Amino acid sequence: MTRAVVVGAGIVGLTTGLALRRAGIEVVICERAPEIRAAGASLGLWANALAVLDGLGVGERVRRIGARTDMRFHDPAGRLLDTPEFGPEDRRYLLVQRAGLNDLLADAVGRDTIRLATGFTAYAEHMDHVTVRLSDGSSEDADVLVGADGAYSAVRAQLVPGTEAREHPGHHAWRAVVRAPGVTVPEDRVILGTHGCRGGYVRTHDGGVYWLVNQFNSPPLHGSPKQQAMERAVHLDEGGREGTLAGLIAVTPDELILHNQVMLVPPLPRWVSARVVLAGDAAHAMSPHITAGATLGIEDAALLGRLLAPAGDASATDQLATDVPATDVPAALAAYQADRIPRYAHVARLSAAVEHAPTPAEFARNYVAFSHWMITTGHRAQERSG
Ligand SMILES: Cc1cc2nc3c(=O)[nH]c(=O)nc-3n(C[C@H](O)[C@H](O)[C@H](O)COP(=O)(O)OP(=O)(O)OC[C@H]3O[C@@H](n4cnc5c(N)ncnc54)[C@H](O)[C@@H]3O)c2cc1C
Repeated sequence: MTRAVVVGAGIVGLTTGLALRRAGIEVVICERAPEIRAAGASLGLWANALAVLDGLGVGERVRRIGARTDMRFHDPAGRLLDTPEFGPEDRRYLLVQRAGLNDLLADAVGRDTIRLATGFTAYAEHMDHVTVRLSDGSSEDADVLVGADGAYSAVRAQLVPGTEAREHPGHHAWRAVVRAPGVTVPEDRVILGTHGCRGGYVRTHDGGVYWLVNQFNSPPLHGSPKQQAMERAVHLDEGGREGTLAGLIAVTPDELILHNQVMLVPPLPRWVSARVVLAGDAAHAMSPHITAGATLGIEDAALLGRLLAPAGDASATDQLATDVPATDVPAALAAYQADRIPRYAHVARLSAAVEHAPTPAEFARNYVAFSHWMITTGHRAQERSG
């Protein structure tokens, strides 16, 4: 039976663990934190990610902790920036709370497969297995090691040295979820403003509101995160008429406001060796202005599950028998890389087209062109790999 060690119990590590287990692979997930947790507030999952989660048997549970919504862009005067060349399905996504999603995935993969407070330190690759060294001094032997350990991946540092995550200069994000804010939010809205700012608010499934503010090419930051977010909200509200975003920021307790300098992983010349593979932000931490890093990472997980399924049996589900033929791991990983690198090169091109759009209307159009492409080809990538 094929055995896998997955490093990282974030969204992608947990989804990978689930996909591998359902493919009949024995899995151990090593997470350096003492508990399952999720940095960040809420997260948009697109149809391609939901299709994967459906295939893994957790889609309905995820929908129950999510709010269905649409990416509807407005300008700072409150005008809708319509994209009539695309359909409503290209703008539709599910807003989920990150911690709830990770908890749900940890339950689905099985808590007994997760070693908490166990960090990855190094690996040694051999002809027929890989030895994974861990922070408690122990080690695990496996047929394959999956590095799903995020943007600052230690697995990537060993596999592809010199590819440290780097700042996207001047690109910052502020966000929070406020419960019962006492501010009327009649609809979900994303506003494309001036000075490189964009932001908005989306109602959560349980009566809260997720708000976010982002800025490209920000000047140096001063003041508290709340003051920083407030300063930028001004660029999203022409004439100060709208007020909802500023109202939400104003009622958010300081300690709930998350601020991030956006970090990127540079394009990698390779994602795999014979027995080591990267998935999720470890391979492709990207700018959040296309809100798709986790969605695409969930695709990575599904593809690994399909390609590593014993004897290429993509239909294998939960077959934890010991008599299934072992997978040709190096061939499966080579196929994974051959699929992923071109796909992410295209993501980078479409992402740049959104980032450098000269007007809000073009930003909106390029954004929906990206989501349309991601959703439609995401399904095809799953089928191809199967
Ligand atoms: C502001 C912002 C908004 C975003 N919005 C969206 C969105 O709406 N939709 C979307 O699809 N994406 C979005 N993203 C992207 C998304 O957050 C990431 O792509 C996603 O969280 C990556 O998941 P991951 O599991 O790969 O990595 P992580 O979530 O970083 O998980 C990595 C895990 O590995 C563990 N780890 C690290 N090092 C070690 C080690 N040495 N040993 C063991 N464990 C280790 C960490 O503790 C962590 O649990 C957004 C990103 C940002 C910054």
